[in-house]
Amino acid sequence: MIEYTNIKSASREEFIDITGRIQKIIDNSGIKEGLCVVYIPHTTAGITINEDADPDVINDIKNYLDRMVPNAEYFKHLEGNSPAHIKSSIIGHSITVPVSEGGLLLGRWQGIFFCEFDGPRSRQIIVKIIGED
Ligand code: ZN
Repeated sequence: MIEYTNIKSASREEFIDITGRIQKIIDNSGIKEGLCVVYIPHTTAGITINEDADPDVINDIKNYLDRMVPNAEYFKHLEGNSPAHIKSSIIGHSITVPVSEGGLLLGRWQGIFFCEFDGPRSRQIIVKIIGED
């Protein structure tokens, strides 16, 4: 099955924990064993897995990306949001997580984060679950 779900970011840069939403989609699918692919069809957002316990981990990642990709005069893209495009490519657009006994096989400290780099905006998340009941 494939599921399209919407998400709204509230600020220019924001990492939103979507682990619960993805687990609900798996619950509704009835699939117990397989793979869950989470994909975003955007060029200024990303998706990643990282620690969901200490929020400073996410803050450190955001701050590090800002230092890695400062705005620069030599960027030519007319929209003026080249750092958001570059961060999107660094973070990537999909993740794949194994599903077993109906649950995401995430580690104890792992969460799935939607990464907004050019918000606030309405975004789409596409979830494909491949497997069996
Ligand atoms: Zn752009």
